[in-house]
Amino acid sequence: MSEPSRTFPGTGSIEVIVGSMYSGKTEELIRRLRRAQIARQRVEIFKPGIDDRYARDAIVSHSELRIPSRSVENAADVLRHAHEAQVIGIDEGQFLGPDLVEVCEKLARMGKRVIVAGLDQDYLGRPFEPMPQLLAIAEYITKTLAICVVCGAPANRTYRKVQRGGRVVVGGAEIYEARCRRCYDLGRRAKPAAESTGEPHAKPHAARPRVRRTAAARRRRVR
Ligand code: ADP
Ligand code: ZN
Repeated sequence: MSEPSRTFPGTGSIEVIVGSMYSGKTEELIRRLRRAQIARQRVEIFKPGIDDRYARDAIVSHSELRIPSRSVENAADVLRHAHEAQVIGIDEGQFLGPDLVEVCEKLARMGKRVIVAGLDQDYLGRPFEPMPQLLAIAEYITKTLAICVVCGAPANRTYRKVQRGGRVVVGGAEIYEARCRRCYDLGRRAKPAAESTGEPHAKPHAARPRVRRTAAARRRRVR
């Protein structure tokens, strides 16, 4: 199940929203948190201090939805500021380190609803800790897909366009783009969006029947 159809105040649960960059994780997180606020629940919202791309005191989606948040340096900070809350929202969970798993467990055990959004894979397609661990212990999981900027197919990967830095290089469209599996594997050989037909993988699929017809015609000519 991806989202609780109805929450039971006091029971405690963990919800995880994962996907590539631009897949709508932050939008989905904001949507759930807004609904909790409308229901007059006490909501605390956190994001890692490392991610100050758009604002320090708010979570902001690529489509410019925003909701006020508290900047934290690590998972222990979340625990410190979440005591009064019934619902806790955390964005960019992959930047808060391995302790985030234990912190979410503790908060859920206190009866709180914990919602964490984050990247499930790094730019090399490797599971991005601690999100895989959180996926394992969560009651509810949502996997979001972006649109491949090369071919328009659903995109599950985040492609880094520049050759620099280690695992963590914070950035936006100047550094990262969403790609499907195939266009990710093509790397720099992938055709830029402007030259693309817009049809997912149109060329390879269209090419196959034509080759077969030509071979059959050749056989007919030989006979
Ligand atoms: P995430 O938190 O997963 O990075 P956001 O919720 O911040 O994603 O942003 C999602 C929004 O980004 C979409 O609704 C859309 O307006 C915009 N967007 C920009 N590029 C893409 C893309 N390649 N695929 C899908 N959405 C995109
Ligand atoms: Zn693609």
